[in-house]
Amino acid sequence: MAGKAAKLACPSCKADDPKRISDMTQPQSAAGVKAGLAPQYIPPRQPWAYLQGFLLAVPLYAGIMLSLTSPGDSEAGTAKADLLGSIAFLSVLVGYGVWKNKAYAKKLEEWKKAVASKLHCLQCGHVFDS
Ligand SMILES: [Zn+2]
Repeated sequence: MAGKAAKLACPSCKADDPKRISDMTQPQSAAGVKAGLAPQYIPPRQPWAYLQGFLLAVPLYAGIMLSLTSPGDSEAGTAKADLLGSIAFLSVLVGYGVWKNKAYAKKLEEWKKAVASKLHCLQCGHVFDS
């Protein structure tokens, strides 16, 4: 087994040229999906962290503006609420984005470890250790 670059073949269907799972960079990799790759071998999706953070932050900002201002407020009062709202908005947007991306990086690391030695047969979808 020490011979280098021994031709690998799928132990299930004998097709050669199995694909290294760690070479897949996109979860939407057509080959992986078509061959019915098990969920644990599908790379994690890059989150749309900042967009999600934005969507979370908008109602927060609106809530702050609504609760801190009233129609009769002075301009200074409104400006203060706006400042607070903006700070909250940015904190959530950036905080959430950073947190999500960190979680994604961790998942990606775990995925890389899990598939480091795995090969995937494109013919039958069999996953095996190299
Ligand atoms: Zn196969």
